[in-house]
Amino acid sequence: MEVVLQNLTKKFPSRDRKKHEDVIAVNDFNFTIPDGKLIGLLGPSGCGKSTTLNLISGLQKPTEGRIFFGEDDVTDLPPENRGIGLVFQNYALYPHLTVKQNILFPLQNLKGKDKLSKEEMLEKTVAVAKLVQIDGLLDRKPGELSGGQQQRVAIARALVKMPRVLLLDEPLSNLDARLRLQTREEIRRIQRETKITTIFVTHDQEEAMSISDLIVVMKDGVVQQIGKPQEVYDNPVNLFVAKFLGTPPINVFIGSVKEQMLYIGEDAVLAVKGVKDQEVYVGIRPEGFRLKADGPFCCELIGVEVMGRDSSVISRNHASLNQTVRSIISTENKVSTDRETVRFSLVPYKVFLFHKETEERIVFEIEGEQ
Ligand code: ADP
Ligand code: MG
Repeated sequence: MEVVLQNLTKKFPSRDRKKHEDVIAVNDFNFTIPDGKLIGLLGPSGCGKSTTLNLISGLQKPTEGRIFFGEDDVTDLPPENRGIGLVFQNYALYPHLTVKQNILFPLQNLKGKDKLSKEEMLEKTVAVAKLVQIDGLLDRKPGELSGGQQQRVAIARALVKMPRVLLLDEPLSNLDARLRLQTREEIRRIQRETKITTIFVTHDQEEAMSISDLIVVMKDGVVQQIGKPQEVYDNPVNLFVAKFLGTPPINVFIGSVKEQMLYIGEDAVLAVKGVKDQEVYVGIRPEGFRLKADGPFCCELIGVEVMGRDSSVISRNHASLNQTVRSIISTENKVSTDRETVRFSLVPYKVFLFHKETEERIVFEIEGEQ
């Protein structure tokens, strides 16, 4: 099911009595979510992710704009008539009901022509329990399950009516690290098998990057960028997006462009064809550094952390906005830690320039490429 968001806007009255301005939780969101895809809705806490999801589910009404599921304008429909499945961070299972009864519950509420016989309900419950791999736990109560199992029950309950759209709001946040990894892969598998259009909300960029077909990055209610995870990582439209994606995070420096050469401090680090003279923010991905004895970019060496295949070289630079500069280098390149400085050359397509005021990306031509 394609989901169309048209000028979707949600304003809340300010909670602060002194300020009378509304909070614009979602600001003119326009996007067509393609049928059958998993969309990661991503951004820091308070950026409007849950509000967006609540608008799509019908739990909240938009101030402006419309929502379509395929051809259906669902904007004025209550949640129960939209054909959605919802999963939240806290599993919200009925503690006194068994797993089976919890999953059955949404089916028992069906009325009129949708009403199912007992056998049909049980059949659907068992099928969906198999899908999320809890069919051995049907007679237990939620209190007798681990967090990961409880969240699977919640997912099964959201899926049992085969919703047109599945909405997940930070569904993995209550799980420990290992379960989080495992459950996110499960969600991906289930989504692929059912082909239900799914919107997955998270503040964890790694989580969103790893399972989404497309990510939507939001800030202060405004969509910053939409694209395939790798495309957004490789081509961030502004400094915010560049900083939000990637672990370890991107290194940011103050730099300047003079005669199409990028300077960080005194070092002429990279040719940036087509850029006017100006001060800029420079973002360099950790994997954008190459150790080079006569490299143009000099940093004060702090230490080296070996992490199996790669090493992380930690250094310092006066122009860096971060405490330390983190670069990822293949372990084959030995760094002697008794030196005081380390020199790098930079990988051009791992270096991004941003306008000093607007923080928008400034694209430069990479030498030797058309
Ligand atoms: P997220 O899920 O990305 O953390 P939310 O969608 O919950 O963000 O919130 C977005 C903004 O809207 C925040 O500034 C939040 O304080 C505000 N907000 C959310 N719900 C309400 C509400 N019911 N009343 C007033 N302000 C709200
Ligand atoms: Mg939220």
